[in-house]
Amino acid sequence: MFSQLRQIVEQFGEASTLSDAMNLLVQQTKSTMILDCCSIFVTNQETQKLTLMASEGLDSQVVGATHFNLDEGIVGLVYQKGEPINLVNVSEHPQFKYLPSSNEEQFNSFLGVPIIHKRQVLGVLVAQQRTPRLYNELEESFLVTLAVHLGSVLGGTLLDLPDETESKSRSLHLQGSPASSGISINKAHVLQAHLLLSDVGIELSEDPDNEMISFSNAVQSCADEFSKVSITLKEQVSKDAFMLFDVYGHLLQDKALLSAIEVQIRQEKLTAKSAVKRVSETYIEQFESMSDPYLRERAVEIRDVGQRLLYHLSNRDDEQQDFPDEIILVAEEVTISMLAMVPPDKLKGIVSVRGGLSSHIAILSRTLGIPAVLGVPLRLKSIAQKNIIINGYAGTIIIEPEDSLVAEYQILLDEENEMKALVELEANQAAVTKDGCEVELLLNTGLNSTPDVFSEHNFSGIGLYRSELPFMLSNAFPTEQEQVSTYKSLFDQYQNLPVTMRTLDIGGDKQLSYFPINEENPFLGWRGIRLTLDHPEIFLIQIRAMLRASIETQNLRIMLPMVGSVGEVEESKRLIEQAWQEVCWEQALSHEQFPLPDIGVMIEVPSAIFIIDQLAPLVDFLSIGTNDLTQYLLAVDRNNSRVADLFDSYHPAVLQAMRMILEQSEKNNIEVSICGELAGDPIGLLMLLGLGYRKLSMNAFNINKVKYLLNKITVSELQACTEVALKGHDGAFIKQTFIDYLDEKGLGGFVRAGKK
Ligand code: PEP
Ligand code: MG
Repeated sequence: MFSQLRQIVEQFGEASTLSDAMNLLVQQTKSTMILDCCSIFVTNQETQKLTLMASEGLDSQVVGATHFNLDEGIVGLVYQKGEPINLVNVSEHPQFKYLPSSNEEQFNSFLGVPIIHKRQVLGVLVAQQRTPRLYNELEESFLVTLAVHLGSVLGGTLLDLPDETESKSRSLHLQGSPASSGISINKAHVLQAHLLLSDVGIELSEDPDNEMISFSNAVQSCADEFSKVSITLKEQVSKDAFMLFDVYGHLLQDKALLSAIEVQIRQEKLTAKSAVKRVSETYIEQFESMSDPYLRERAVEIRDVGQRLLYHLSNRDDEQQDFPDEIILVAEEVTISMLAMVPPDKLKGIVSVRGGLSSHIAILSRTLGIPAVLGVPLRLKSIAQKNIIINGYAGTIIIEPEDSLVAEYQILLDEENEMKALVELEANQAAVTKDGCEVELLLNTGLNSTPDVFSEHNFSGIGLYRSELPFMLSNAFPTEQEQVSTYKSLFDQYQNLPVTMRTLDIGGDKQLSYFPINEENPFLGWRGIRLTLDHPEIFLIQIRAMLRASIETQNLRIMLPMVGSVGEVEESKRLIEQAWQEVCWEQALSHEQFPLPDIGVMIEVPSAIFIIDQLAPLVDFLSIGTNDLTQYLLAVDRNNSRVADLFDSYHPAVLQAMRMILEQSEKNNIEVSICGELAGDPIGLLMLLGLGYRKLSMNAFNINKVKYLLNKITVSELQACTEVALKGHDGAFIKQTFIDYLDEKGLGGFVRAGKK
C-alpha cells in the first residue's frame, strides 16, 4: 500500500486542475486501500460549511451539492476535534447525520482524517467500507499522510466552492507577500503577454537573412521601448533602482544571448520567433532550476524580454492600451515591461500571482511607493475588472469587497493620505521630541532605494548603504574602477554628510548570478563578512574602491555585516588598513591628508551581543541590524511565509536584547545606532526611544513619518511605557502597550493603516 503512496502524491501534484486532482486522489485511494468509498469535504469559510467536493463511492449527484455545518455529523466532529475518527459502525454514533440520496446507508466503517494547513482545518478526507471494522494503524497513517499533502495544496489554492445558499458575503480574502506597503481600492486591470514563448512552435525558414533583419529590428524596437520608459522612470526612482531597468538594456546587448539566437536562425534555419523561443527557454530552464531567488529572477527577465521580442516580431503596431484613470495592475507575473506600459500616474497598486519579496518588481514598487502584494494564489479570470482592495502592509487582497469593507478601508486610506499630507507639511522640522530630546535620523539606501528627489535636509547622513545591488546587477564581480564610480556618485551626492557603506553582504537571500552558492542552510552559512574574508581579493577591491571614491569628500564610514567574533573584526581591520596604506601611497596622500575612515560592525548575529566588551575597543561604532537579529534570535527565517507570523519584532527577547546592547554600548562608551526596519516602524520607534536609542537609520519613506511622530511624543512617557513593555510576556502585549500610547495622543492612525 505504501509503495502506492508516492505515486498518488505525484499524480495528485501533476493534475491540471484541483478538481481533477481531488477526483484522482479519491479514485486511487479507494483502490489502493480497497475501500468502498473515499470522499473529500472542503471547508468553506464564507458559508461556514463543509462541502463534499469529490467522492468515489457516494452518488455523483450529491458531489458539490452536499454541505454540513461545521459541527454537524461525524465529518463535522472530525473538523471540530482536528484529529482522526475511526468507527466500526458510523451510524451508531450519536452525532451521525445521514446524507440523503447519497447511498451512504450501505457503508458501516468510517475513518475521517482532518486536512490541516497552518493550524486551520481546511477539510476532511473520509474512507468508508461496507464491512463493519476498525481501520488499522497503517491504514490510518496512510490516510493521514495523504491528508497532509492535500492540506498543503489546498492551503495555497483558490477554490471554486459551490454555494448551497446565497453566500453571506461575496468578498474573497487572499494572502500573499507584503511587497510594498500602502492601501489601494481600485479596479483590477489584468495584463497578459500578447504572445507567450510557449505559444510559439518551432518552424523553419527559407530566408535566414530576412529573419536576421526582422530579429535585429525587434531588438532595436525593444531597446527603444525600454529607453523610453527609462527616461520617465529616471526622475522617479533612485540610481540604484534605476539599474534594474538597465538589466533589460544589458540583456538586449548580451553577446552570448544574441549570438545564440543568431546561430539558431543561420545554422539551424529557424524563424526568428522560433529561435527566440528556443534560446530563451533554454536560458529560463537553467535559471529556474536554481534554488536561490535572485538567480530565478533572471529567468523572469529573460522571459519578459523574450516575449517582448516576440511581440515586436509579430509586427503588431505599438499598442496604445487605454487605461482607466486609476488601476491596480494584476498579472501572472508583473514584469518590468508591463510597468512600462502603464502610465505612472494611473498605477495605484500591483498584484502578482508569482514573485517574492526580493523580486525586482518588489524592489521597484517600494521605490515607487506603490502598494504591492505578490505571490497571491489567484486565477486571473476571476479578478479581471473586479473591485479589489490591496493591503500592502499585511500582504492581503480582497476581491469584490462588500460596501462595509470598502468603507472601512476608505477610512484607512483617507487616514493614510491625511497623515501623508500632515507629515509632508512638517517635513522640514527638526527631529526633536516634544520634551526636547534630539534624535539623529539617517537614511538607509542601496537595495531598498531612495528617490533622488528626497531632500537632504531631512536626515543627517546615510546610516546604511547596502552595497550588494551593483554586484547583483553585474555579470561578473564589478571592477575596482566600476565600483569607484558607483560609490563616488553617492559620496558626491551627500558630500557634507557621513555615508556609512556596508561591505558586501551576499549569501543568505542575496545571491550573485555569477557566484552561486548552494547550501542547505544559507542563512546560517557562507554570508556577509564570512564570505568576503575567505575571498580577501573581493574584500580588498571593494575597500580600495570605497576609499578611492571618498578621497575628495572624506565622508566614508565602513561597516562590516554579519560579524560574530573578534577574529573577524581583527582580520577585516588588517585588510582595511592594508588597502588604506596602498591608496595613500598610490595617491601620494599622507595619513593626515587622508585619515583612516571610521570602522563599525553590525550587531545582527546574537553572539555579537555578548562580546561588545571585546568588540568596542576595536571599532568606532556599532549599528544594529534588527532584521537579521530578530531572525537569528527567534530562529525564524525572515523570508519564509510559513513562519511569517512568528517573525515578531516586538518579541520580549528582541526588546531585552535591544536593552542589553544599549547598556553594553554605553558601558563601553561606543556609538550605537539602529539600521534595521524596526527603526522606521512606529511601534519600533517608540520602543527604541523608550529604551534610550537616539540614532536611527531608516528607509526614505519612513523618515518624515518618524519626524512627525517625534514632534508629538515625549521621551519621559515612553520610558514609562517601555518599563511596562519590558514586563510583557509576549509581543502582542508589548505592541498593544505602544498602540495605546499612540491612541492616547490621537496618533493611532499610524498603526491602523498597517492593520492586518
Ligand atoms: C538587518 O539585518 O537588519 C539589516 C539592516 O541588514 P539587511 O536587511 O540588509 O540584512
Ligand atoms: Mg542584515
